[in-house]
Amino acid sequence: MIILLSNDDGIQSEGLTALDDALRSVADVYTVAPDRAQSSMSHALTLHRPLRVNELGPRRLSVDGTPVDCVKLALTGLLPVRPDLVISGINKGPNLGDDIIYSGTVSAAIEGALLGLPAIAMSLVTFKDFDFRASADFIMHLLGQIRQREIPPKTLLNVNVPPIPKGEIKGWRLTRMGKRHYSENIVERVDPRGGKYYWIGGDDLGFAQDDGTDGVAVQEGYVSVTPLQVDLTNFELLQNGQFPNFAWP
Ligand code: MN
Repeated sequence: MIILLSNDDGIQSEGLTALDDALRSVADVYTVAPDRAQSSMSHALTLHRPLRVNELGPRRLSVDGTPVDCVKLALTGLLPVRPDLVISGINKGPNLGDDIIYSGTVSAAIEGALLGLPAIAMSLVTFKDFDFRASADFIMHLLGQIRQREIPPKTLLNVNVPPIPKGEIKGWRLTRMGKRHYSENIVERVDPRGGKYYWIGGDDLGFAQDDGTDGVAVQEGYVSVTPLQVDLTNFELLQNGQFPNFAWP
C-alpha cells in the first residue's frame, strides 16, 4: 500500500511523525506537508504566488503553502506514484462538529477525496500533553479493516480520538457531525502605536448533547469516526418537497 501523508500543523509536528512511524511498517509512506503551522486554513489554495518544495529526506517534502496545496501538488505531479490512500494528521486538537468547516487537517483529506482517493483525517482531542499512541494504534486497526471494506468514492473518514490512554478508551463509534458551542467573543486590544487590533478565538463551551454525534462520542470515551462527503447538497431539502415551488419568470 502507498500512502500520502499530510497535515496542517506543519511537517515538524509530532502528530505527523507519530503517524509516519506507525504507517511505515505496513506501507510506502510519502509525506508532503506544509513547512509551518497552517491550522484553520480550511480549503485554501495558493494561486497568486509560486510554491517552493523542499526535500527534507527520502519521500519527505515540505511545501511553503497550505494543506490543500500539499495534497494537490502531491497528487498532480510531485509524487512518482499514485497513492492508494491519503491520511491527514494526527492533528493536535479536535476536529469535531463545526471545527470541520475551518479545519486544514480535514481539508487535506477532502482534497484527496476530490482527486479520487480514499482519505482519512485524524485528530487527537486535546491541546496539551499529546500522547499519540492510541491514535496510531487505532489507525492501524482501521487500515486493516478498510482494505476489505473500501471507503466509497468522494468520501472521507473524520477520526477523533479522546485524550485518554488506550486501555481506558471504550471503543469506537460511527457518528455524524455535531454542533459545537463556542463563546463568540473576540479580543479587542490596542497596539503600542495606539491602533486597535482584534484576536479571534472563543472559549470552548462544549457540544450540543445530540445522540450519535462526534463530540458526544468523544466525550463519552469513544473514538469517533464520521463519514463525510464532498457533495454539500442538502438532499433532505431537495427531496422532501418543502422548498417553495414558485413560477419564474
Ligand atoms: Mn492543526
